[in-house]
Amino acid sequence: MTTEHDADATDEPNEPAGGSTRTAFRTCPLCEAGCGLEITVKGAPGSETVTRIRGDQADVFSHGFICPKGSTLKQLHDDPDRLRKPLVKRNGVHEEVEWDEAWAIIADRLPALMAEHGREAVGVYLGNPSAHNLSALLYNRSLLQALGTRRRFSASTVDQMPRQVAAAYVFGTAVSVPVPDLDHTDFLIIIGANPYASNGSLCTAPDFPGRLQAIRARGGAVVVVDPRRSKTAEEADRWLPIRPGTDALLLAAMVTALAQDGLIQPGEHVAPYLQGLDDVVAALAPFTPESVAQATGLAAADIRALARDLAAARSGSIYGRIGTTTTEYGTTTSWLIDVVNVVTGNLDRRGGAMFTMPVAGAPTTRGKSRTGKAFSIGRGHTVARDLPEVMGEYPAAAMAEEIDGAGDRGIKAMITVAGNPVLSTPNSLQLDDALSRLDFMVSVDIYLNETTRHADVILPPPSQLQRDHYDVALLQFAVRNVANYSEPVLPLADGQPDEWEILSKLGLIAAGFGAGIEASAADEAGVRSMVQGSVNDPSSPIHGRDVDEIMHALGDTAGPPRMLDFMLQTGPFGAAFGANPGGASLSLLLDNPHGVDFGALEPRLPDILRTPSGMIELNHPVLVGDLDRLRAAMPVMETQPLLLVGRRHLRSNNSWMHNIEVLVKGKARCTLQVHPDDAARLGLTDGGPAQVTSRVGVVEATVEVTDAIRPGVVSLPHGWGHGQPGTRLRVAAERAGVNSNVLADHEAIDPLSGTSVLNGIPVDVVASSSVVGAAAL
Ligand code: SF4
Repeated sequence: MTTEHDADATDEPNEPAGGSTRTAFRTCPLCEAGCGLEITVKGAPGSETVTRIRGDQADVFSHGFICPKGSTLKQLHDDPDRLRKPLVKRNGVHEEVEWDEAWAIIADRLPALMAEHGREAVGVYLGNPSAHNLSALLYNRSLLQALGTRRRFSASTVDQMPRQVAAAYVFGTAVSVPVPDLDHTDFLIIIGANPYASNGSLCTAPDFPGRLQAIRARGGAVVVVDPRRSKTAEEADRWLPIRPGTDALLLAAMVTALAQDGLIQPGEHVAPYLQGLDDVVAALAPFTPESVAQATGLAAADIRALARDLAAARSGSIYGRIGTTTTEYGTTTSWLIDVVNVVTGNLDRRGGAMFTMPVAGAPTTRGKSRTGKAFSIGRGHTVARDLPEVMGEYPAAAMAEEIDGAGDRGIKAMITVAGNPVLSTPNSLQLDDALSRLDFMVSVDIYLNETTRHADVILPPPSQLQRDHYDVALLQFAVRNVANYSEPVLPLADGQPDEWEILSKLGLIAAGFGAGIEASAADEAGVRSMVQGSVNDPSSPIHGRDVDEIMHALGDTAGPPRMLDFMLQTGPFGAAFGANPGGASLSLLLDNPHGVDFGALEPRLPDILRTPSGMIELNHPVLVGDLDRLRAAMPVMETQPLLLVGRRHLRSNNSWMHNIEVLVKGKARCTLQVHPDDAARLGLTDGGPAQVTSRVGVVEATVEVTDAIRPGVVSLPHGWGHGQPGTRLRVAAERAGVNSNVLADHEAIDPLSGTSVLNGIPVDVVASSSVVGAAAL
């Protein structure tokens, strides 16, 4: 296995002169791939520094692979702009304060505001890094419970929510997401994903590129469907340059083509658990390859060939990601991916689309089939636009109007955790303006960025090297059943709270316990409640056991490791507190710092199902019902003159790693990619300025003329637009770029999931005389 990149910092001038050298192993927490890192640490205790980071060759999952970002954890830790102490805003300027002072201000303001205006006066935004963070995953919940507000927002509705909603309707839980069995498949269709840059998403697979190369090396094939000829497309056998936002049409037409050829063959392993297949095939019949050709921009013959090739492959899978979910039909597209995998016999079989067995347990491992409650949305609605709740949250696109456009019921205080929605959510300038008028705002973040500059108090968690780690969320979507726990590499500074302590204490203060409350005050009760629930659950491996016995075995140290140990021990491979010796537990993982491999994915039907019927509800009425909307939109799709899409880069991680010099140096990459035909038609020149206008905003960007994008589509990467007054990201400010989300329309969402349309935004582009910035319209 090749190593993509090593970071050898031994030549750095600040290398410690003396002290011992040790090696630490940990999982990289930056993206979903979860690569194993080998970290060399040198120096005396208290003054240790990292001197080298490279891929851990012995890691059971990544086998030494690492990307350029993983090697920069040292730079991230050492970044002088990374916050070490809380900041408090006074007279418009952020000042560093001690922790006690920060807590006192929050205790003084937040409970009083909640008492005066009610819990719904507080909004919460959880950013993408929360999904890669053990503390946040285990303790955000207690913060949310303490706040008691339904005005919750997260990065999910600018990302993967449609994939989860479709899974919930069809299979019964929001984490019942089939993943392509990359290591065994013979034919992989990738739609709207660029794993050469992203390293995979909702499909945890370190060295995703190497696994794609292995498919071809063993005689298989990879097809990429994408408006851009991304690096992944360049390395594939076939590239189909689809028009943005029309993936659902392609998938629907593939099903119809298969039906016309008599190739609907779900397989005997699936058929007994399949509900409504004939209904679905009939509902999709109007979508023929010929009828969708103009809207998708793909030849009918190519669509038919793609369907036949998938059906003919010994095994195959369709994998769709951000380009399929951040569109107006994201949920329907995600469902249709499942439909095609089902009708070609590829669901839940080796080399097809399979379900992970998460070692730390999950809704797909707890309880029994046929006991699930029907998934639904709309347990509440936003005030300003009456948008429904989805999976306990409201659309991120509605955040600004819930602050500004809800009259007396508007949000008056916001809490943001590890996110930068001013750069990452639609109509950014609208949100930027709304945040500036809040009564109170608290952010938990390591940076003073474009969002946290509005916060009255910023609480900085430890650096990635000072935290422990287990990918509780993302190992639910791994291509092998693996587990890997990492202890912190570097210690906390004196007086520095761990992240779980920050989140717990923030919740306790919101609940009125005052600034002096111990962060661990609620931990014991929280763990006891988990244990009690498990011993009461007939499906639990510790059903009927004594709660005190389990609590004693878990020990009395508060924090994430204790909770994780409980999850591992009661998971599907768990030690079950002695009942299954050698099974998964925290101590097993501590003894195996390169991780533990519990094997390849195995078929999980029917036990995976949690639908009320205990069946694969392929014909769920919400999903079938959305086909009318899709069909009605076809005439508009056929005539869109120019659409904007995003793009990923291997050295970016949304917005928040642009302050690392080694990741942003070199040629500016926040450019507007334009096809040569469009450039000639619009009078644009390579390297020249262009003005891009959408319904809600205008930005000026530098043009990059390239044939790696289909005509009629332009592309800007997201996560840029740095250099705002009041931020402290000095490196990022020097390469500010422009914010693509100024152009994203907050009113354009997938109504089934509340997810924003970030790919396929109608825009006008004209040559402009100078590049000056961005504005709202
Ligand atoms: S691919 Fe992701 S997990 Fe692996 S080193 Fe890069 S950022 Fe870290």
